[in-house]
Amino acid sequence: MRSNEECTQIGDLLPEFMAGRVSPADEQRIRAHLEGCAACRARANAVSLLQHTPVPVPDPDRWECFVSGVVDAAERRRKLVDPRRIWTLVAVIVVLAVAVFLWVRFAT
Ligand SMILES: [Zn+2]
Repeated sequence: MRSNEECTQIGDLLPEFMAGRVSPADEQRIRAHLEGCAACRARANAVSLLQHTPVPVPDPDRWECFVSGVVDAAERRRKLVDPRRIWTLVAVIVVLAVAVFLWVRFAT
């Protein structure tokens, strides 16, 4: 019988199992579970794929560009939503609303 709890336990052990760092008893238990549980087999395949995917070493120059690019983007975004612009817009809307209210109230 496969329970969610068992699958969770097996899932937690999968990275260590794939690295060959589990006890023989756990290894046997995990292998038996994987034979009968398609979901955990798929998970084991994903873990294996992740463990065998090389992680590229970042180029130091590119890292410098990345940081300055993020700072520039944040600066541009800050200018785009400048709080003074928002308050100006709110003030214009309030003035227009008051003007329309007064016109409707006293012009008719
Ligand atoms: Zn399972």
